Amino acid sequence: MTKPADHFRAGFVGLGGRSNVGKSTLLNRLVGYKVAAVTPLPQTTRRRILGIRTDPDAQLILIDMPGIHGSRKLLNQRMVDRARACLREADVVVGVIQAGARLDGRDQEFLDELRELRQPKIVAINKVDLVARAALIPLAEQCLKLVPGTEIVPVSALSGENVEELVSTIKSLLPPGPALMPADQYTDQSERMLAEEVILEKIFFAMREEVPFSTAVKVEKFSLEPERKLLHISALIIVERESHKGMIIGAGGQQLKEIGQRARVELEQLFESKIFLELLVKVERNWTRDPRRIEEFGL
Ligand code: GDP
Repeated sequence: MTKPADHFRAGFVGLGGRSNVGKSTLLNRLVGYKVAAVTPLPQTTRRRILGIRTDPDAQLILIDMPGIHGSRKLLNQRMVDRARACLREADVVVGVIQAGARLDGRDQEFLDELRELRQPKIVAINKVDLVARAALIPLAEQCLKLVPGTEIVPVSALSGENVEELVSTIKSLLPPGPALMPADQYTDQSERMLAEEVILEKIFFAMREEVPFSTAVKVEKFSLEPERKLLHISALIIVERESHKGMIIGAGGQQLKEIGQRARVELEQLFESKIFLELLVKVERNWTRDPRRIEEFGL
């Protein structure tokens, strides 16, 4: 039997915070499915990602937002605008910050922005596995001072510690009402976009700090070939300069080959199918300054 709608809660949950605090990891924990690129480098999650968690008592529609940070470059301005737009849309806002000896300056700036929002707020202090328990009390006090009235939940997205407590807190703040999305829908991202995320993640892993920030992945072909039990994926890796193209391809094409292999292994698990993956690197000068292209790449 389904529960009556008045016992059910549903709504949009904005996940905010500066880059690298662990928003994507937390989102994956909350949704139980890999939806966002997780890398040790900041700024890899460029597009708005929606993950959905449906429990017997509530539905959480999670909006992951790129880190809010000041930059005059168009690409980054776009990210900032989008993050702000997402924040306005949410029924509940979860501001993710990182546990440390004291509050990071950039986390403070983020909390200043959070305070100004009208929605019920939760500050999730992530990465508690990295600090001593005693350090959390002054940190929580600082958060409360910056965002009066907020709920505070310490978590470790990596280990999963206390994540269910965060879920309960979110639920308690959601408006009552029926589910807004079909229950079996874990994300509204198309499979193509998931594939793009995975390929981009492998590029970031392979390149580390050398990675050109202006790299995008666009899936051009995504077709199931049932007679061969094969999923055929062709993707363009778009960079801004010839030199970036060379870096990604690597000596004798070795780098690109490794990126492709790693991506294929993960995509095969993700789509539970054998995959034929084709990657092509293409130079598009100044695409990060072209609003049309930015829109097209879902940034
Ligand atoms: P985002 O930029 O905010 O989406 O951050 P990510 O989810 O990509 O995480 C950034 C880095 O922090 C990655 O290397 C994660 O493995 C790491 N990380 C995330 N959550 C935790 C946590 O709870 N504990 C620890 N120790 N590391 C974490």
